[in-house]
Amino acid sequence: MEWIFKLTNYLIGTCLASHAALICDRWDDGNFIFTRSRCSFCHTELCLLDELPIFSYFWLHGKCRYCHNFIPPKLVVIEIIGGFAFISFDFSKLLDILTAIFVFSLLLAAICDYDQMEFYLIMILPAVILALWQSPKIFSYQLFDFIQLIPVLITLIYYSLTKKLGFGDFLIYLTLALYFNPEFANHVFLFGALFSLTHFLLDETLRSTTSAIAFVPDIFLGLIVQLLLR
Ligand SMILES: [Zn+2]
Repeated sequence: MEWIFKLTNYLIGTCLASHAALICDRWDDGNFIFTRSRCSFCHTELCLLDELPIFSYFWLHGKCRYCHNFIPPKLVVIEIIGGFAFISFDFSKLLDILTAIFVFSLLLAAICDYDQMEFYLIMILPAVILALWQSPKIFSYQLFDFIQLIPVLITLIYYSLTKKLGFGDFLIYLTLALYFNPEFANHVFLFGALFSLTHFLLDETLRSTTSAIAFVPDIFLGLIVQLLLR
């Protein structure tokens, strides 16, 4: 029966991802807690049936029910991918709920970074607070943990100071290392770098540009892989 459990978590995850996309979309208005989603073209408030993650998109053939404009496929991609981030949690356990909050705040940063090439540090405040709460774990680290943590930390500080990487990326590494452990954070960043490299090789426009590329979405994909492998 484990697949029912996982499917339920996936569906919860798609709803959370859908809401994360809504929060990022309305971030500047600050109007995202009690309002319904609206079509970004005709601004009609969507009914509950139009808001079902993934399903509504395909049911409505990717178009708004009212004005028939195409809904950005980005939204359904966020729902499909975001759902996987929450599969492995047991929502009856407090620690897993807190980890889900941690993951949700990084999802906000990933979506915002994808849209705007930067994210608001306040988005990852829940992750930072949870990481600080778990930080006393550092006193039980073995030598191997420090060997895993310190070289990567120094490298990221160097890249952050030389503006090759955003300060936010460094902060995300630190929160992952403190909340989970340095090995987990290193694997997340390793997979994140592999996803970035893949994007870079597959996307010709990306290769021809000299401007910065958003790294947090790839870090988030790396996080999903690590959460599923845990
Ligand atoms: Zn519309």
